[in-house]
Amino acid sequence: MSENKSENQLKNLEKVKDAALSCVHCGQCRVANWPIQNFYYVCPVYKSQVSPQFDPYFARGKNIILKGLLWGDLKLSREITELFSQCSLCGACEEFCHNAMNENFDFPTHRWTSMVEVFEALRADLVEAGFALDSHSSMNKALTEKLNPYDRDNKEKSKWTDQIDFKVKDASKKPIDLLYYVGCTAALTPNIQNIAIYTSKILHKLGIDFGILGEHEICCGSVALRTGDRKAFETISEKNVELLKRLGIKTIITSCAGCYRTLKKDYNKKLDGIEIFHTVEFLQTYLQEKEISLKNLEIRTTYHDPCHIGRHMGMYEIPREVLAQISDPIEMQTNREGAMCCGAGGGLRKGNAELSLDLAKNRVKEAMETGVENLVSTCPFCYRNLSDALEELNSEMKMIDLVQLIYDSLNRK
Ligand code: SF4
Ligand code: SF4
Repeated sequence: MSENKSENQLKNLEKVKDAALSCVHCGQCRVANWPIQNFYYVCPVYKSQVSPQFDPYFARGKNIILKGLLWGDLKLSREITELFSQCSLCGACEEFCHNAMNENFDFPTHRWTSMVEVFEALRADLVEAGFALDSHSSMNKALTEKLNPYDRDNKEKSKWTDQIDFKVKDASKKPIDLLYYVGCTAALTPNIQNIAIYTSKILHKLGIDFGILGEHEICCGSVALRTGDRKAFETISEKNVELLKRLGIKTIITSCAGCYRTLKKDYNKKLDGIEIFHTVEFLQTYLQEKEISLKNLEIRTTYHDPCHIGRHMGMYEIPREVLAQISDPIEMQTNREGAMCCGAGGGLRKGNAELSLDLAKNRVKEAMETGVENLVSTCPFCYRNLSDALEELNSEMKMIDLVQLIYDSLNRK
């Protein structure tokens, strides 16, 4: 019996091993030649000049390593952690894998199994075996101790409210049905607090009764789950579930793609009874029901799909429908299921900042090819990485979150 197996070091990977074992090493997850829509890269890490651009830097090579581990030819190690942490968990590989997409291939164990889920399982085994990246360990320690991954005093989470001229209800003190769950990045990052400010201004303008948790808001735990620290995720998610249920929250909206995916999908029914929406999704329905039309701002835009609401949750058209009412949007070459990742997620920015920024630069270059002036997204994480890339490239293109455009549109005379 292999050393990995005898110590049961692969207990998470073993649960999803069929997905890794069914890889036939075709390389479709590296560059797309199917569906036929020009040649383009699938894996953003493989495309980056910062990566060595060989097999372990896209899913095929990673699956070969997984087989080596499962068959006992390889052992868990720091080197394997480093290889698997050079991946943003964007999920593009699973969209383009013929096992996952082509209904004529009958590999039922794999067809609906997520590559992201497999990579996360290995990361969990690596963390449990003591091979976590130091940068990820310190982030997850802060997460459980300070309730945010930025190692900041959680009291700072309500500071952005100083910049608005109305009082937002404190959902920890007053009974409230609708909670605006701000998320750590929008609450604590100065130039991204605009997302929280515009979200609350829209709700206030529309007369929607809502509250926030401010210093009592607990991180959703997404970063812990993505980087393999399942203990930290369990700790934080249990605290969140207890708080949200105790407060009697009925609906949660969030302007963060990562929080949205985590609360709605990864909490796995623990928040049953509470409806969860991305802000844009919530507003689209609300505006339609109230027959409030959005005015066109007469600007040109292109939309970047955040992986966490796009590929991970299948929400592609709602933001596009809203954006089309407000502006004149033009698609980038890769979009929807095939959209290139901004490089911020999956612990990549924290674990490998240079590679993460290079991914963002590639995405920005693609946006610049459209010739429009505004790059729009629906996630504070994407906002931050793409803004950094725009600055690095000295681009005049402007990064805007869709909530800001909705606010501007509602205020357009
Ligand atoms: S999840 Fe994204 S970054 Fe990771 S291997 Fe797949 S395509 Fe590449
Ligand atoms: S496309 Fe699927 S089967 Fe082909 S190498 Fe990638 S993961 Fe393996």
